[in-house]
Amino acid sequence: MEKIDIRSFDLKELSEFICGLSQPKFRAKQIFKWLQSGIEDFSQMTNIPNDLRQVLSEKCYIANVKIVKKFVSKIDGTVKYVYELFDGEYIESVLMKYEHGYTVCISTQVGCRMGCSFCASGLDGLLRNLTASEMLAQITKAQTDNNIRVSNVVMMGMGEPLDNFENSVKFLRLVSCDEGLNIGLRHISLSTSGVVSGIEKLANYNFPITLSISLHAPNDTIRNTMMRVNKKWNVETLLNACRQYQKVTSRRISFEYALIEGVNDSFQCADELAKRLKGIMCHVNLIPANPVKENSFKKPNHDKIMRFKERLIYNGINATVRRTLGADIDASCGQLRRKAKEVLTYDNSL
Ligand code: SAH
Ligand code: SF4
Repeated sequence: MEKIDIRSFDLKELSEFICGLSQPKFRAKQIFKWLQSGIEDFSQMTNIPNDLRQVLSEKCYIANVKIVKKFVSKIDGTVKYVYELFDGEYIESVLMKYEHGYTVCISTQVGCRMGCSFCASGLDGLLRNLTASEMLAQITKAQTDNNIRVSNVVMMGMGEPLDNFENSVKFLRLVSCDEGLNIGLRHISLSTSGVVSGIEKLANYNFPITLSISLHAPNDTIRNTMMRVNKKWNVETLLNACRQYQKVTSRRISFEYALIEGVNDSFQCADELAKRLKGIMCHVNLIPANPVKENSFKKPNHDKIMRFKERLIYNGINATVRRTLGADIDASCGQLRRKAKEVLTYDNSL
């Protein structure tokens, strides 16, 4: 009999399950709290009767992640974790400290099938989706390992969250639940490469999260060379979906734009971008492209990046340059990867 992923249950599902075991409903709340706290074993549920713990361990498992490697940046204290999953696969996750608290960047898939040309996460394709519980576990593990409380989450690690739609939505529900980690949806960002069908579905949930769109180019000619997803949903289709999403949710949209020297960093690109984003309540996050050793692209120099930003602002578009964190441990955007073997050879690990 296949065991049940009890940590992916929301409170309602758990209550139904617990009542189905002829147990009182209040037990569900107690068990839910334990599961959200990051315990590893049913024996740790000290206020639950022994016989119920026994039944639970026979029928269910508690999804978790195991730290196999931990890298701490000497520059800014950012921590990158390599986690092993129950099936021996590896994912990476990053803990960052900002003035307002701790943020965890979680992975949503093992690998990614979108194949963006500048990103390390998709180099080996997609192996499998992560469950909601495995997404949650990346947060609880970082919390217990550092004895901290995480206040913000970005779904910007390895994987395309909207290509794992049901689990991503389930995760959003779980992580923001009062009885659980209680991280408000306003403190969560979900980044997508532009899976329009997913954006349309997500709008119906009306979550007050920040939707980040990895745009990276102002037109199809350039975007087609960078992102395969653009062949399915081009810039116009994507921006129309963003307009529609905004109409429903009234949320400001964040556009990610990785600046790559000689590809998308010209003044013409900035002007065209500003023109196309006009009318959308948005913010552009410029990311100096982070190196991926399998590729030869470079980020533009600092002056050029600043001039691109100023040009957007001059054109009436709100823009900032994202601070690079964890540069010495390959923990920045697009650098998380599935293969752990090569990661394990780094000499700056703990
Ligand atoms: N799959 C989702 C979320 C994970 S990627 C998405 O693509 O949006 C998180 C962010 O890192 C995305 O904006 C992505 O485009 C960006 N990124 C990928 N590779 C990068 C690189 N080498 N340099 C800078 N940003 C990169
Ligand atoms: Fe996947 Fe996002 Fe990387 Fe593209 S940028 S390959 S969608 S993780």
